[in-house]
Amino acid sequence: MMDNHENVYKAAKLIDDNGIDQAKISAAVAEMLAAFGENVEREGLRNTPERVARMYVELLAGYRQDPMEILNEAIFDVSYDEMVLVRDIEFYSLCEHHMLPFMGRAHVAYLPNGKVIGLSKIPRIVDLFARRLQVQERMTLQIANLIMEVVQPHGVAVVMEGVHLCSVMRGVKKHEARMTTSAMLGAFRKNPATRQEFLDSISRGAQPLRL
Ligand SMILES: [Zn+2]
Repeated sequence: MMDNHENVYKAAKLIDDNGIDQAKISAAVAEMLAAFGENVEREGLRNTPERVARMYVELLAGYRQDPMEILNEAIFDVSYDEMVLVRDIEFYSLCEHHMLPFMGRAHVAYLPNGKVIGLSKIPRIVDLFARRLQVQERMTLQIANLIMEVVQPHGVAVVMEGVHLCSVMRGVKKHEARMTTSAMLGAFRKNPATRQEFLDSISRGAQPLRL
């Protein structure tokens, strides 16, 4: 947990150095509040613009994190060649169409080809891509592509299940609020048995997705 905090801190600093403009975000939020017809000066809202600006620094930290910094010292040579699977990784992201949260679980597997990644790094990769304005389809592919590129396994599989507040909260005719996306690379794409083994292991004992 400690190093996670340091990372968020570091990322927050980088964002400031790289020009995420907190003052501009606060000004924009103040304008939005006024446009809602709110009294920006009332007690509960007085610090909201600055608070929202600080929040985005954290929620969007993934733009400024270098995945190689997370992974470089966590790739090990081993001869293990069975499927490595990390399932039920919680994620929280913001949809780029409405800037509302979507959240859920990611399941990530790969078939090693001489190299493995430290297990704790996979959730951090998920986090890195989640802390951006996203669409779930792209995020799923980005996670798979990064692991493919860095670990060079025989294959990578990523399945993400998400609940999108922009569907849940808006309108009377709700769209399908729950979305499942997948990216299958290498052996998981070519070999139906490998893909099935992965899909079977993630559905075994699966918990229903809740908010
Ligand atoms: Zn949306």
